[in-house]
Amino acid sequence: MFKLKDIIRENILSLQPYSSARDEFKGNAGVFLDANENPFGELNRYPDPYQRALKLKLSELKKIPSDQIFIGNGSDEIIDLTFRIFCNPNKDKALTFTPTYGMYDVSAAINAIELIKVPLTAEFQIDLNLVEYFLSDSTLKVIFICSPNNPTANIFEKEKIEYLLKKFNGIIFIDEAYIDFSDSESWIKMLTKYPNLMVSQTFSKAWGLAAARVGITYANEEIIKLFNNVKLPYNVSDLNQKAALNALSNADFFKKNLQIIKTEKQKLIEALKTLTQVVKIYPSDANFLLVEVTDANKIYSELVSRKIITRNRNALVKNCLRITIGTPEENAILLQTIKNLSL
Ligand SMILES: *Cc1c(COP(=O)(O)O)cnc(C)c1O
Repeated sequence: MFKLKDIIRENILSLQPYSSARDEFKGNAGVFLDANENPFGELNRYPDPYQRALKLKLSELKKIPSDQIFIGNGSDEIIDLTFRIFCNPNKDKALTFTPTYGMYDVSAAINAIELIKVPLTAEFQIDLNLVEYFLSDSTLKVIFICSPNNPTANIFEKEKIEYLLKKFNGIIFIDEAYIDFSDSESWIKMLTKYPNLMVSQTFSKAWGLAAARVGITYANEEIIKLFNNVKLPYNVSDLNQKAALNALSNADFFKKNLQIIKTEKQKLIEALKTLTQVVKIYPSDANFLLVEVTDANKIYSELVSRKIITRNRNALVKNCLRITIGTPEENAILLQTIKNLSL
């Protein structure tokens, strides 16, 4: 049985959170002399510590109550907070399926947590036989599942994730940074069924706001409360909250760009297939392609010398480059350049 209390770090469970001026008085109109702000200027006031306007809009859009939403300074803050809330340094563990997003590893190391890396199958799917052994370990607190996965680009089989949600008594953290590029459904629909589920999304990819640093996590309200207690009081700036709200209000612009990226992806796949340097293109549910080439190190550096930057993933998946879908012009330049390489 999953019991949230059993997996929270003790010091976090007993934490008396900081109460900011904006926590204690929540009204809008009035004379504000409570936060030692400068009365002059445009950015002179502290931002809403709970990003209420943004959560309200997300709540309408996703049909999730506001108290089941947490906003972070990028998903990277949310990953870090997850370690800090659930994992005792030098004692507890987390687990992920590799190759995957590098931040789980870095964040685990910063927090002195061992990250168990379970290799994906040859088709980049979860191998339940390899993970079963770890599920009964009471020091294993969190399983990070990146789906669609970076850098392999695919979505993971639903049944296997569901098995883990049922069987594991810790947190299942599903990182859906790329979900808007996929035809598959988000796991947020399953939040009412699984109290140990956290679903993380971001404004950095499909919403085009990587510079603004706004990440989202959806979970049951008990989990969200913990995140609110542990986060820095003003973790998302007013400018960034407004940027995200603005994007949500311009959903048509977002949808149009999403469609262009999807169309460009199909065009790029077809064109890459015809190149002699391309060995294999893995199926993609994201805005990037994992492409096996004849010699990744060489092609990568040839491209760099021509000012075209891809991600060399040779160390993770042999001879693979990760290529982000760019504008039609950028993709055309990439194709023409690879074509002209004498490799
Ligand atoms: C890009 C990416 C993110 C986004 O992180 P932010 O901090 O929100 O910009 C999260 N997870 C994965 C797997 C990513 O590739």
